[in-house]
Amino acid sequence: MVECPKCDREFATQKAMDQHFDAKHRTECSECDRVFTSEESMNQHYNAKHRIECSECDRKFTNEESMNQHRNAKHLRFECSECDREFKSQASRDQHRSAKHYCCMCAECGDMFKTEESMEEHYDLEHRFE
Ligand SMILES: [Zn+2]
Ligand SMILES: [Zn+2]
Ligand SMILES: [Zn+2]
Ligand SMILES: [Zn+2]
Ligand SMILES: [Zn+2]
Repeated sequence: MVECPKCDREFATQKAMDQHFDAKHRTECSECDRVFTSEESMNQHYNAKHRIECSECDRKFTNEESMNQHRNAKHLRFECSECDREFKSQASRDQHRSAKHYCCMCAECGDMFKTEESMEEHYDLEHRFE
């Protein structure tokens, strides 16, 4: 008789015991092909190897992609380069920036300028050809 080291069941052959052992006492990691004899050691491995913590909060993710998705949705801030306001989207940041800090946009290339003079200067330099 072969006794299972994990529980007290007995088996007629080593093979039968191995089959039982694989079925009952092995936990496979769902993210890689490592096998563990207890759920606890599997969880330890899983947490160490397959979980990525968000640097902004304590949520954990199984892959970088979902972590980045979470970060983009929850934590990403777009800072105004002219003042210290932050915005949730690039569009609202740009809107703020053009409304508060810039007066005019070059009609040729879309560059933004703080004064009409600097825009004209840019236009003369970049877009006016003799
Ligand atoms: Zn067993
Ligand atoms: Zn794994
Ligand atoms: Zn987070
Ligand atoms: Zn600003
Ligand atoms: Zn321009």
